[in-house]
Amino acid sequence: MYLLALSKGEQINETIEQFCEEQGIASAEVSAVGAIKDPVLGYYQLEKKEYAWHPFLGNFELTLLGNVTIKDGKHFLHAHPTISGPDLAAHMGHLKSGEVAVVMEVFIRPVARPIVRVMCEPVGVHAWEL
Ligand code: ZN
Repeated sequence: MYLLALSKGEQINETIEQFCEEQGIASAEVSAVGAIKDPVLGYYQLEKKEYAWHPFLGNFELTLLGNVTIKDGKHFLHAHPTISGPDLAAHMGHLKSGEVAVVMEVFIRPVARPIVRVMCEPVGVHAWEL
């Protein structure tokens, strides 16, 4: 298992993907706690085969579950954060982007073999090919 401490201002997706690439981790489970700034979360509209994106402005508490796999030959973070603002009401969705607001404490657990994503036409997303 790898531990990663992200700092204020770091882009979450890019930083985790780059870390896995540098460490030679093809696929991993990812979990984290911390705070996120200006997250953009999405809801997948199956009938349209596209995401509806929802930007949130400001700083939010964060828990994050996800994984790193290989998509189109590159490391790809698929993560679903749960965020809350001052009222502690939770929102959750598919993470498009966001930066670390304060700190972010990340556990990265490599899996035994690479997982590659391929387009699954019936639902319109890149799904695991196991
Ligand atoms: Zn998702």
